[in-house]
Parts: sequence; structure tokens; C-alpha cells
Amino acid sequence: MTQMTAMVLDAPGQKLRRVGREIPVPGAGEVLVEVSACGVCRTDLHVIDGEVHAHCPIVPGHEIVGRARAIGDGVAGLVPGQRVGIPWLGHTCGDCGYCRAGQENLCDRAEFTGATRDGGFATHVVADAHYCFALPARFDDAEAAPLLCAGLIGWRALRRADDARVIGLYGFGAAAHLIAQVAVWQGRRVLAFTREGDEAGQAFARSMGCAWAGSSVQPAPEPLDAALIFAPVGELVPTALRSVRKGGLVVCAGIHMSDIPSFPYRELWGEREICSIANLTRDDGLSFLEVADRARLRPQVETYPLAEANLALERLRNGLVKGAAVLLPPTP
Ligand SMILES: [Zn+2]
Ligand SMILES: [Zn+2]
Repeated sequence: MTQMTAMVLDAPGQKLRRVGREIPVPGAGEVLVEVSACGVCRTDLHVIDGEVHAHCPIVPGHEIVGRARAIGDGVAGLVPGQRVGIPWLGHTCGDCGYCRAGQENLCDRAEFTGATRDGGFATHVVADAHYCFALPARFDDAEAAPLLCAGLIGWRALRRADDARVIGLYGFGAAAHLIAQVAVWQGRRVLAFTREGDEAGQAFARSMGCAWAGSSVQPAPEPLDAALIFAPVGELVPTALRSVRKGGLVVCAGIHMSDIPSFPYRELWGEREICSIANLTRDDGLSFLEVADRARLRPQVETYPLAEANLALERLRNGLVKGAAVLLPPTP
């Protein structure tokens, strides 16, 4: 077999187009992976909408699970047939000030899977072997996919909240449904805030262990130590800020958000903080996958054939996906 299939974004604003192309040969330090599942993330929508910079034409998708099929020169520790996970962080320079300081998530010359290098909405993908993860056997391919971005970014946000005991999650999609399970397992109290009237979403949040679930337009029923915002909605920043206690923290976890409306300074006063988190480090990946295994996470996935990527993206855009959407390439 020398041909692969990919769903390609030719330019922002367009639908993905199915193409056939030659299966690429991995270069030095790279691995060719046959994709068995790839999660659909809100960042893919931001790429398609032109809100996140991408090198078009590009194959989106950065929650990739597959098996190594060909290994480039100089790759140690990977054997053909081995299952790997490929995340959003596709490469870093190892040399800039951020990389040297252990902040490779902020690398000045980072490459991102599905944005600046081809991703996993395809039957095959080539990855930098240093940025592939081994995956816990507990999760099947479709379940493991959303761990690789939704889970990871949720984990980075949760780590930023340090030892916060009462946590509010704003937007209960793929990331929140995973990190709620982790936070509950850690003994924290988790409150979920969804779109007004989204009773199905609120029931889903309670089924994931949240102590309370309600509309994001109403104030929190108790003061929050930290709020993690996963919805790309700037209005939620002042809303969440009003619900955190003195000294509390609002973490913006999305890569893109609508503008944040102005708000009175007194709502920030009292040593409240607002911050963002960006991308991931490999340490986030290693530590999260270990926690996901120990906490016995139960990822909730909806699967779609690869050829229906546009449908899965539209369902995500319209808030219709419960848990995470995952694309499955045809089995060869
Ligand atoms: Zn760097
Ligand atoms: Zn993502």
C-alpha cells in the first residue's frame, strides 16, 4: 500500500476536502504512524475558521492514536507496531529561552500538529518521535484520543489551579468531562457551568461526579477557589471572576476566545488573578497519562468515520457532542 487518505483544509473558511496522496516516508528522528483514531478538538474549529494560525493546505487533527509503521533514522525506543499517541505539540527547538527554562510549551519556534505540520484527520501521519507518547493499555484507541489534547489541556489548567479545593468548570465539553473526573478522584469539589438551558449537559456533568451543575449566567452557589474556562467565550471571564473568592484564580484554557468585556476593577481586587495556559509540555503529557490510568478515567466518545469529519466538526460547533468526538479511518 502506497496511498493514504487525508481530510485537507485548503484555506480558512472552507470545508475539509478528502484527498488521496502518497504515504510519506519518515525523515531522521521521525515516525510514520498508521492512524486508528483521531479526536476532534475545538482548536480544529479555530484553525478552520482562521482564528488560529495554520499553514494551509493542512491536515487538521492533533489527538492522534495509531501504530508505528516505519521508523526514521536515529529514533530510539520505538518499534514497528507499537501504539503511540501524538499531541498538539509537534516539535520544539530545544534552544530558545523558553525551551531552556523548561517552558517548551512557549517555544518561539514550536510546531503544532494539525496546524503547522499535518495532523491526524488521515489514515497516516508523520510525527517527530520525541513528541509521541506511550498510552496506557486501559484505554482503547478511540478512548485514548481525547486524552491527547482535551485531557492534557484540562490537566495543565488543573495543575495551574494548584491545591484549589472548590473548582468551577465553565463549558462542559471534552476537556471538562475528563478533568472533572480527575479532580473528583483527587478529592476536590467540582461545580460545572454550562450554556443556559443545557439540561442534558448539566445532567452529564453530574454523571461525571460534579457536585453541582447549572447555567453559567447564574452566580456560583458557593465561592470558588479556582475557575477553569474551557468555552471560547470572553464574557465568561468576568462572570467567573465574580464567583471566585479573594485570592482565587481564573484560568483561561482555550487557545482562542471572543473578546473579554470590560469590568470594574473591584472585581479583580482582593488578589484575584486571571491567567491563560498555552499548549503543553511533554511533562504534562507523561504526568497526565499516568494520572488518567490511576484515576481510571472513563472518556465518553462519539465516533465518526474519517470521511464524516465535516459533520463531526459541525456537531462540535453546535454544542451537540457529549464528551469527545473521535474520527476513525477505514480499516485497511
Ligand atoms: Zn524553543
Ligand atoms: Zn486540542
